[in-house]
Amino acid sequence: MRQSALFTKTRREAPRDEEAKNAQLLIRAGFVHKEMAGVYAYLPLGLAVIEKIKQIVREEMQSIGGQEIIMTSLQRKELWEMTDRWDDKKVDVWFKSTFKNGSEVGFGWSHEEPITDMMKHFISSYRDLPAYVYQFQTKLRNELRAKSGIMRGREFVMKDMYSYTADETAHKAFYDSAIAAYLRVFERVGLGDRTFLTFASGGAFTQFSHEFQTLSDAGEDTVYLHRAKKLAINKEVLTDEVLAQLGVARGELEEAKAIEVGNIFDFGGVKSKQLGLFYKNEAGEEVPVHLGSYGIGITRLMGTVVEALSDEKGLVWPENIAPFALHLVSLGKDGDEVSRAADTLYDDLVKAGKDVLYDDRDLRAGEKFAESDLIGIPKRIVVGKDAAANGIFEVVDRATGAVSRESREKLLAK
Ligand code: ATP
Ligand code: MG
Repeated sequence: MRQSALFTKTRREAPRDEEAKNAQLLIRAGFVHKEMAGVYAYLPLGLAVIEKIKQIVREEMQSIGGQEIIMTSLQRKELWEMTDRWDDKKVDVWFKSTFKNGSEVGFGWSHEEPITDMMKHFISSYRDLPAYVYQFQTKLRNELRAKSGIMRGREFVMKDMYSYTADETAHKAFYDSAIAAYLRVFERVGLGDRTFLTFASGGAFTQFSHEFQTLSDAGEDTVYLHRAKKLAINKEVLTDEVLAQLGVARGELEEAKAIEVGNIFDFGGVKSKQLGLFYKNEAGEEVPVHLGSYGIGITRLMGTVVEALSDEKGLVWPENIAPFALHLVSLGKDGDEVSRAADTLYDDLVKAGKDVLYDDRDLRAGEKFAESDLIGIPKRIVVGKDAAANGIFEVVDRATGAVSRESREKLLAK
C-alpha cells in the first residue's frame, strides 16, 4: 500500500484523555480511533493486526478440532434466567435493552448460555459428541473502569470456544490440548517468553480454572510466578495446600503484575443440566453434556503486545502480527531517480507477494523515519542516493535498530 493513499495520519502528541500506553501509541500511530472511554474503532493498520492475530488463533483452534461459527449479539433473557446469570447482581457487566413490545433483551457479554441452548438441536446421542465450536465476536460489557486502553474495552473482540464432551475423561483430554494450543498462540504472537499458565479459582467441579497471564507493569492482576516451572498462581488460590499440590515453595515464587490474556474453565455438567442439554449414553441413560469454556481477548492481546514490546520511539510489532512485513521508505522527491528506484523496488516486492507499506510521500527524511519508528513495522528498507546510483538499500530492524546494506538482488532473494 502506498502511504500517500492511506487516509490515517500519525500524531506527534498523545491524546490527553488517555492514560494507557497502548491506547496512546495506537492512537498516535493511527491504528485505532477512540469513540468514547473503553470503545475503540480499528483503522486499516489496526485492523490488519487484529486480522493476523485472529488468523493465528483460528489456525490453532482448528488444529484441535474447533469449528468456527458466529452467534448473535442479541440474547434471550430466559436462557440467562435458567442459569441465574440474568440478574445484574449476579453479572455486573450486562448491557440490556427492551424491544418495542416491552420484553427485555441482553447484549452478549459471553455466550455459554445461547450456544449450549443451540446445541440441543444438534446433540442428543453419544454419537454426536464431542463437539468443539468457537467464534470471534464483539462482546459488550458495561465495565466499571475503562482505563487500560484497548485492554479493557466496553466493546472488544474475544475468541470464545466451547467444548461439548461425554464425560470428565474426554473433557480433560480436550482441555489439555486447549492449554497447549493457547501456549502456541501466545508464542506465535510474540509473548511466549512472558506468558504463564496460571492457576486461578475454580470452575464448577474442578479445583482450578486456568488463566494465561502475560507479565507487564500495566497489568491489573497480581500473580505469583515460578519461573523455573513456567507457571503462576493467582492470589486468590495462594494457600499452603495449593503450593504443596503444585510442588512449589512460597520462597520460590516471585510477585509480579500481569495481564490476563486468556481464561479457560470447566463447567462440568452443571450448565447443561440447567439448560437441558442431555445426551443418551450407550446404556440408554440421559446424561448432561460436559461443558468447557475457553476465552482469549483478541483486542486485549493486541494491547498487551504494545505494552510489552513497544519502546520510546513507538510501536514494535513481531513479524507474525505486523500490519505489514516491510516499510519501504523513499527519500526521493517527486519523479527524481531515487523515487523511481523506490517505485521499481516497490513493484518488485509486491510482485514477489510481499506485504509492503510504501512511504512515497514528499517529506523530510527525519519526519519519515520518526513516523516509521512510531508505526513499528519490523523491517524498514530505505531508498536513498546509494540505491539509485549503486542499487544498494539500507535495511533497518525496528526491534534492534540493526542496520544492514543489501543489494536489490539479495533483498528480493530474501
Ligand atoms: P477480567 O478478569 O480481566 O475482567 P474476565 O475474567 O471477565 O476478565 P472472561 O470473561 O474470562 O474475562 O473473558 C475471556 C478473555 O477475554 C479474558 O481472559 C480477557 O483476555 C478478555 N477480556 C475480558 N474482559 C475484557 C475487556 N473488558 N476488554 C478486553 N478484553 C477482555
Ligand atoms: Mg478473569
